[in-house]
This record gives sequence, C-alpha cells and structure tokens, in this order.
Amino acid sequence: MSEEKSIFTRIIEGEIPSFKIFENEYVYSFLDINPASPGHVLVIPKEPAPYLHDLSPESSSELGKVLPRICKSVIEITGATSYNIIQNNGSEAGQTVFHVHFHIIPKYPETTHSFTWKTMKLDNKVALELAQKISDNIE
Ligand code: AMP
Repeated sequence: MSEEKSIFTRIIEGEIPSFKIFENEYVYSFLDINPASPGHVLVIPKEPAPYLHDLSPESSSELGKVLPRICKSVIEITGATSYNIIQNNGSEAGQTVFHVHFHIIPKYPETTHSFTWKTMKLDNKVALELAQKISDNIE
C-alpha cells in the first residue's frame, strides 16, 4: 500500500477543493469532477483503504448507513428516474483512485449509457463447488 496520501484524502483534509455534499466522522461525499451524468456523486470513507475488502467494519457500516440517504437526496434533487451504484476495485475493474469510493450515477429517460454485460453459462457442478469454497473462506 502506498504511503502517499490519495487525492481523496487530500480532498477530505481540505487540501484540494471539492463540491461537498455530506460529511460526518466516517464519511465524506462530493460531486465527481468528470460526471458520467448530471448529479454524479462520490461517497467515500475517511479511512484511507484502497479497496472495499480492506475497509474496517466500522467504516463499512457507516458507509452503508449514509449511502441510501445520499442516493435518496440525489434522485429527489436531480429528478433522475434510476441510478447505478458503481464501486471499482483494482485497475482491471476500472479503478483509477485507490481510495474506496462509491459512484452514484443518476439515470434519466434520455440516458443511453447503461451498465449491462454479456453473460456466460453457469455450470451446476462448478457453481456448487465455487459457492461452497467462497462461503467457507469468509472470515
Ligand atoms: P474510479 O475510476 O472508480 O477510480 O473513479 C475515480 C473517480 O474520481 C473518477 O470518476 C474521477 O472523475 C473522480 N475524481 C478524480 N479526481 C477528482 C477530484 N479532484 N474531484 C472529484 N472527483 C474526482
């Protein structure tokens, strides 16, 4: 893990300006500087964890409490009819800032972009084994 402060920690600390939406002891939220749609918001923990699976239970639970409240406000204020929550972990997943963040991306009737993907077949035997292994591995 890098010792350098992430750009988001610098935003939390006020070193870099942001269009702030929400702040409490654990969570900070602000407008994305390069929005995918009007009202694109980022919600981040103050804890400088790079990936979701590194985040403490305390920060995770505080994020979980705040996220729906911010989503509700975003859709009420923007008039969005739908929204996506996107949370990228790792370069292959499209993560560019290595400080946990949730994107709230509002969608409108005129929106053309959607997060859909090509699906593959789920083999029964493989699925049974995989589900059991992941389940047994949960700490
Ligand atoms: P990701 O690709 O999931 O890591 O998303 C990083 C997001 O951070 C991108 O959508 C950027 O537009 C956004 N971003 C980067 N720097 C800033 C900044 N200074 N203020 C607001 N948003 C930022």
